[in-house]
Amino acid sequence: ALGVSMDQVALLNGLDEGIHAVSFAFLQRAEDGSRREAVIVLPAFDMYAACAEVASARIVEVMPRPDLSFPLGELLGAVTPATRVVFLASPNNPTGLAIPRADIVRVAEALPAGAVLLLDEAYVDFARESCLDLVEAHPNLVIGRTFAKAQGLAAVRAGCLAGHAETIAKVRPFLPPYSVN
Ligand SMILES: *Cc1c(COP(=O)(O)O)cnc(C)c1O
Repeated sequence: ALGVSMDQVALLNGLDEGIHAVSFAFLQRAEDGSRREAVIVLPAFDMYAACAEVASARIVEVMPRPDLSFPLGELLGAVTPATRVVFLASPNNPTGLAIPRADIVRVAEALPAGAVLLLDEAYVDFARESCLDLVEAHPNLVIGRTFAKAQGLAAVRAGCLAGHAETIAKVRPFLPPYSVN
């Protein structure tokens, strides 16, 4: 259904497991002990901060605009050389607003080496289009999907991460060996 090959996808016990695995793959302390940074645009799904925190990252919050339009400039200003994950959801939970594709590309292109943009598409079925087709050109873009929302199968615990094979390979070791039951 996604049109990707096996090495471009990691099946998950719910997308939350993917948020957790990406956090541990990219946000643990550097070898010199310094903390990595996770950028979160508010208002956001709670799991981003919960997982980033337990992976010991410093959380950088981007405040919402009064009209809740996507704060691209503010987000780009929050990216530093220590940024390792930017968490975005499109359409967003809890606002329902989609992020323009051009803005997703701008963010992906602005990230330092070694950082990823986790684009949570839990609600993509309610949007005009996905950004999954961007992952080959932008290996630092990881897409998250779940069966919990449009399919109404939250209790089944099934989701996936999709992205460039090399990026998915960096996340896979942080998933439990017998994840999807
Ligand atoms: C529900 C939801 C998830 C988690 O989905 P599960 O597959 O149930 O873990 C992730 N992100 C957002 C934005 C959600 O609303």
